[in-house]
Amino acid sequence: MTPSWETVIGLEVHVQLKTRTKLFCGCVNKYGADPNTLVCPICLGLPGVLPVLNRQAFALAVRAGVALGCDVANLTKFDRKNYYYPDLPKGYQISQYDRPLNRRGRLEIETPSGKKNIGITRIHLEEDAGKLIHPETEGTAGVSFVDLNRAGVPLVEIVSEPDMRSPEEAYAYLTALKEILQYVDVSDCDMEKGSLRCDANVSIRRPGDPKLGVKTEIKNLNSFRAVAKALSYEAARHAQVIESGGKVEQVTLTWDAVAEKTIVLRSKEEAHDYRYFPEPDLVHVQADPAFVAKVREALPERPAARRERYVHELGLPAYDAGVLTGDKELAELFDRLRGEGLAPKIASNWVMKHVLAAMNEKKLHASAFFDKTRRIAEVARKVEAKEVTGQTGGDLFLWILETPESASVDEHVRKQGLAQVSDAGALEAIVKDVIAKSPRIVADIKAGKTTAIQALVGQVMRETKGKANATVARELIEKALH
Ligand code: ADP
Ligand code: MG
Ligand code: ZN
Repeated sequence: MTPSWETVIGLEVHVQLKTRTKLFCGCVNKYGADPNTLVCPICLGLPGVLPVLNRQAFALAVRAGVALGCDVANLTKFDRKNYYYPDLPKGYQISQYDRPLNRRGRLEIETPSGKKNIGITRIHLEEDAGKLIHPETEGTAGVSFVDLNRAGVPLVEIVSEPDMRSPEEAYAYLTALKEILQYVDVSDCDMEKGSLRCDANVSIRRPGDPKLGVKTEIKNLNSFRAVAKALSYEAARHAQVIESGGKVEQVTLTWDAVAEKTIVLRSKEEAHDYRYFPEPDLVHVQADPAFVAKVREALPERPAARRERYVHELGLPAYDAGVLTGDKELAELFDRLRGEGLAPKIASNWVMKHVLAAMNEKKLHASAFFDKTRRIAEVARKVEAKEVTGQTGGDLFLWILETPESASVDEHVRKQGLAQVSDAGALEAIVKDVIAKSPRIVADIKAGKTTAIQALVGQVMRETKGKANATVARELIEKALH
């Protein structure tokens, strides 16, 4: 964007709640089951059935509100949002219109110029629709299938104020929102499974202009990166339209991730009239202040607070604290390692180095290491006590991953002879051998290139399969070449 325009962004985020069952019936809320196996007369919208509000979903929606600093309404009600679509069996969605559960919240985000609060207009409860499947196999042109497993799954819709000023801020907002909702166990926020979905609204205006410009809304965004890209594209398009004498039209668009451009879905005239009216089959719900207070008290620690605590109470570098708390399970793994008696920085080093590498390589979640922490801590202590070298420690870590927790580290070290060799007598012969085999390096060192000593130390390490005490090996080499 040229500096002569200010970008204004507001996001509407739908998040699936981590409940056992659906919002108004007893069907299981689960991803990935065979199509149409998690349905009943209520979520199929058959005549004569009545919805019953899921208490757990209500509690999680209150928790989302409290976690995002909202005022929780004393009295909240449900409304029918009417529209016709094949994935919506009742012909309406039960949502909340004029009395949403939560209002006036905020979410703190990190921007290059510091922290910033983004206002949250409202968070309301609603049910999800089903899913259309468009097969691409031969002979299925024009055919669509409907899977109603998702119909009736509880959602909260989180509507932000138009407070973001760049696609980067929108990205930061989504990252922070996902982090907080995962931390408080409201949702797993997995975009790939559709448990977090985002519609992005954008307009532009002259800096200083108090009036908002005409907005467009982009749907069908399937990653945070796509949100940022689509917003950049759209803001630039607005500027181009206005600068060439045109007017931005209020339209709903979809993002074509392949062509990297927006495509108009419908104009303002074609916008839905949802004919909202109160849901007659559900009573109004009162969120008892004592209940809200209890939810607030039971709220798990938020990521920002945990980061602060790691830095100020445990003395971790801000970088470590950021990486560890960026993934709730990783932070929990770190806490467990400390619970096994490791000092904070030692525990952090093991997580940041060995655990992250193994997670990347083996595509594991941090929780896969939860039942390995006793032995990981044992190995970390051995490295600290110089009973084994750092390199052996890394090997032992990999060995731990492949063996049950009952396999003894001590016994393995003993049987495999992995203890660190610091004994000069034991290393001297190897050093002598290495020197004899490397006349070129030795000549370099004697010519004053002292950094070449490291190459010889490396060879000693190789000869001892990483077990040599590198400091002792270095001293022996220096002595021998003196
Ligand atoms: P609509 O009635 O079209 O759904 P809302 O007022 O409900 O619009 O706002 C929907 C979302 O769009 C909110 O997140 C809001 O912050 C955002 N929004 C509203 N007006 C603008 C604007 N002019 N520019 C950017 N975002 C906007
Ligand atoms: Mg809206
Ligand atoms: Zn059902």
